[in-house]
Amino acid sequence: MTVVLGCIADDFTGATDLAGMLARFGMRAVQTIGVPTQPASEIEADAIIVALKSRTISPEDAIQQSLEALKWLQAGGAKRFYFKYCSTFDSTESGNIGPVAEALMDALGAQQAIACPAFPENGRTVFKGYLFAGDVLLNESGMQDHPLTPMTDANLVRVLASQSKRGVGLVDYQSIRRGSDVVSAALKTLLSEGKSLVIADATDEDDLRVLAEASVDHPLLTGGSGLAVGIPSALEAAGLFKSTGAAVDLPEVGGMSAVISGSCSRATNEQVRLFKEEHPAFQIDPLALAEGRDLATEALVWASSKLADGPLLVYATAEPEAVRAAQAKIGRDKAGALVEEALATVAAGLCELGARRLVVAGGETSGAVVQRLGVEALRIGREIDPGVPWCSAVGQPLALALKSGNFGAPDFFKKAISIAP
Ligand code: ADP
Repeated sequence: MTVVLGCIADDFTGATDLAGMLARFGMRAVQTIGVPTQPASEIEADAIIVALKSRTISPEDAIQQSLEALKWLQAGGAKRFYFKYCSTFDSTESGNIGPVAEALMDALGAQQAIACPAFPENGRTVFKGYLFAGDVLLNESGMQDHPLTPMTDANLVRVLASQSKRGVGLVDYQSIRRGSDVVSAALKTLLSEGKSLVIADATDEDDLRVLAEASVDHPLLTGGSGLAVGIPSALEAAGLFKSTGAAVDLPEVGGMSAVISGSCSRATNEQVRLFKEEHPAFQIDPLALAEGRDLATEALVWASSKLADGPLLVYATAEPEAVRAAQAKIGRDKAGALVEEALATVAAGLCELGARRLVVAGGETSGAVVQRLGVEALRIGREIDPGVPWCSAVGQPLALALKSGNFGAPDFFKKAISIAP
């Protein structure tokens, strides 16, 4: 069985989020870190998700990397393609959602593609083309102050039109509520009006299922991970694959467990605080690293006598005030890089000490850890909390749970370890 759905994600934990969703609804999913050298046809999967880091790079580079991923997926036999971006439609002024979507459409000869970042389970809904985060419009949600991708307009038709050459239209909730035939007809009308990129309303999962059904013949879908709730069943109904029904079990890895946390989000601070109450923990302080202290080695010496007794935590997670103070003293990028380097070294060292199940908190942190461990692809298992599945490193006896900053319930770390493969 070869791959059916080829996905290209514009960041690492976003790729995992999508992969977990597809796995939840019965697709055997593998996530790759960038475009691998191994041909896609050799990977046993229904869906392959190529994780890029293309959200904030130049549109030219994002297009080039996305087309390279597309070619690799096409060579592997994928029949449908998915461009995954953030459910908050994060983009810079020049893109990259519009430019990449258009380049993929050109390469695939796609006449039309929908764009739907809605993810109702996580509070992201689209109504009349306006994106809501929870109860407020995107531009009132805090996203207007994002350091890299500030979103000051919640009207997605306007946002996408400003970064696209093609006409942008809207399929609104009134069509969606009337079912997939009505949506298909609305899409055709829009196409005849020259609207080949189409923002779609969706306020609940039924809406997303209708959309997935109506666009099952489109070579390209674009959206957040929410749209994935409807894709496996739509592909199965079209006779393109046979669902496993639920996420597959990952191979047992056994071995010891550890948590590595470099995220400083509010959710992660709470998760770290709770886990520390019951487990040994070692703190990595960026200011001490900047003074030349080898905290990674110190952490590993500390861990070597404790790891066999139960899970432990190594963390740099800190409250905003402490993060700001460290950044003010040594610079934001340097603080981040020092911490990522130290935590990646700790991860590799813990594996040498026998750890086989690692929970990693933080998108950038996960990227640094996975790179250091030489992981090229991840097989996706059951979700621990929405958007965070257990994964197994292809070719290594290692299970990884990679959590982006704000995901997971307060007891996420404990729960992850309790259901580790
Ligand atoms: P998230 O998913 O929450 O955004 P990331 O790992 O992507 O988490 O980003 C967090 C960044 O903050 C990383 O670059 C990490 O190295 C850095 N960092 C972690 N702890 C600290 C700290 N105490 N002070 C300053 N920066 C830190």
